Amino acid sequence: MSETEMKTPPPLPEKLVEVRGLHRAFDKVHAVQDLSFEIHRGQVVGFIGANGAGKTTTMRIMATLDSPSSGSVLVGGEDVMQHPERVRRLIGWMPDSFGTYSYMTVFEYLDFFARAYGFKAKERAERVSEVMDFADLTPLAERPMNKLSKGMGQRLCFGRMLLPDPEFMILDEPAAGLDPKARMEFKNLVRILAQRGKTLFISSHILSELGEMCDTLLFIDAGKIVYHGGADQLRRGDGNGADGNAQIVVDVAVAGDPASLALWTAMNPGWKLLEQKRDGARLALAASDPADLAAGLRKMILDGVQVIEFHREERKLEDAFVEMIKKIQ
Ligand code: ATP
Repeated sequence: MSETEMKTPPPLPEKLVEVRGLHRAFDKVHAVQDLSFEIHRGQVVGFIGANGAGKTTTMRIMATLDSPSSGSVLVGGEDVMQHPERVRRLIGWMPDSFGTYSYMTVFEYLDFFARAYGFKAKERAERVSEVMDFADLTPLAERPMNKLSKGMGQRLCFGRMLLPDPEFMILDEPAAGLDPKARMEFKNLVRILAQRGKTLFISSHILSELGEMCDTLLFIDAGKIVYHGGADQLRRGDGNGADGNAQIVVDVAVAGDPASLALWTAMNPGWKLLEQKRDGARLALAASDPADLAAGLRKMILDGVQVIEFHREERKLEDAFVEMIKKIQ
């Protein structure tokens, strides 16, 4: 690939990825069943599901490494089956495990792959150096691959994926086994790539790992999509998933005589006394739409209840996920 080609990629469609009716069976195991979703340019999508849910199978097909039993995947408008070589120019793939070559150092490994990607001479040295800086691999340049920790190995694999500066990055469990510090650093790298307009598709079986990193979540269970929406929507319970009609709950701290507050709560339908304090109480209101919520809060103020603080109660992502799975079973 020449320098000019790399610097002026062809315009990409807004819908960068289109998965339609994807199905993949291994003998009697239906790993992925009728999967359909879209990923828009610049999105950071978390692909979440338990072990064996079908994440790797889906990602391998998107990365042109496996063929669907039926259905299709388009990346950048190109079909992964019909034009895998065109798709490969757009994607970066970070597998959940990769082979190590004990005789190679970090630098040699990246240099080898940069050569394979067609970088030549000065351009190759520059690209390897940029990637090493970005993924914080420069201090490890001379370290043999078999002397890397799990986190360092993940960073090297990440660096390898970045070499051709792909538009769409598919990362299979990139944060698995990372300690909290390494996970924070990884999150930071994802944030920078997102700011540069890259599109990322990241899998994990640990929801909280992806909640903060991704703007969109895609849950897969037994080969089927069970939720596709924002992390915030899911915490609030107003996503488009199986619990799309969930209620909004506000938690309100109020001051005043606890007995009068208990009486007020009993006389106002919808309100619940969460906690009585020496000089006040905590009340909750569950409403199915924002207008009811606004009316409830207004009534409270008009009745002279002294509101000190209120916040919308957010569910933990894990709880939201478990609730949703229960509802669809
Ligand atoms: P994990 O989080 O454990 O990596 P996953 O969500 O990535 O799981 P997949 O690896 O896609 O799940 O597997 C989905 C199902 O397909 C599983 O039941 C698995 O055993 C099966 N499967 C995957 N690859 C093959 C294969 N090559 N041959 C037979 N069965 C397979």
